[in-house]
Amino acid sequence: SKNLLEIKHLKKYFEIRKGFFGKNVRILKAVDDVSFSIKKGETFGLVGESGCGKTTAGRTILKLYEPTSGQIFYDGNDISKFSEKEMFPYKKKMQVIFQDPYASLDPRMTVGEILGEAIDVHHLYEGKARSDRIAELVELVGLKSDHINRYAHEFSGGQRQRIGIARALAVEPEFIVCDEPISALDVSIQAQIVNMLEEFQEKFGLTYLFISHDLSMVRHISHKVGVMYLGSLVEYAGVDEIFLNMLHPYTKALLSAAPIPDPDESKKSERIHLQGDVPSPLNPPSGCAFRNRCIYASKICSEEKPVLKDAGAGHMVACHLY
Ligand code: SF4
Repeated sequence: SKNLLEIKHLKKYFEIRKGFFGKNVRILKAVDDVSFSIKKGETFGLVGESGCGKTTAGRTILKLYEPTSGQIFYDGNDISKFSEKEMFPYKKKMQVIFQDPYASLDPRMTVGEILGEAIDVHHLYEGKARSDRIAELVELVGLKSDHINRYAHEFSGGQRQRIGIARALAVEPEFIVCDEPISALDVSIQAQIVNMLEEFQEKFGLTYLFISHDLSMVRHISHKVGVMYLGSLVEYAGVDEIFLNMLHPYTKALLSAAPIPDPDESKKSERIHLQGDVPSPLNPPSGCAFRNRCIYASKICSEEKPVLKDAGAGHMVACHLY
């Protein structure tokens, strides 16, 4: 199938002002030259520690932030410079599910009002069709019809995330950015939400950008996986390829840091543990941004920034070891 989304050299920089009257301007390169594509009906898992730029990347793709430069092709159209008016039809096609279902739903609104509001923005249904649609959405995400008139604050985290999913689905989108949709939830609820997202992908032909800090979690839902570090993609490949043949030292360390044990015990000896802290994105190291934490770092790593190279069959990696 063809690409629904293609990101080319996407950059999102923020100006950070400090000092008297904000005289000292520093540039935070939150997303620094990121390129990848997502095929229609597939999931791209974007993984990295907090502060690596993955959430900013997701928001920039949705045009919640204006890109600093680069291109965002949605169904072949470059939307990166579209005005708000030009973006309007795309805001229906492109939706988001937020990490925190507590913060992202207005507690003073009922479920019916939350879903109705989403439907009304795009004038999709009116009158009886509108209330039927709300009832349909509520049922779809496994809530009960008498939940429609209850307030968001009356629900548990898992139920709220179901409401968040129903809100995203209300406008019949094609593409959804799922920004850490399960990390604020109880472990017992996480699988339910992931299964639900997978079921809807199948049912409605949805395409996902699934953002997570947990590499083992994206394994279940993704077709392709990209790993981000300090604003750059350091590795990406098909999900099976990346788990069978992990190349970048950071990707290996991320998997080792995951709470879920690697079922393949034989790989234990290869495990690398993350040492040190993520450097400040305002002051990234020269050369490879991972070098202060990498056990393989050599002279060239401080001199030259490694670029993404094809290590075979489209497995891309940015590391001087390859
Ligand atoms: Fe480590 Fe060097 Fe590879 Fe960076 S380029 S990940 S420092 S070996």
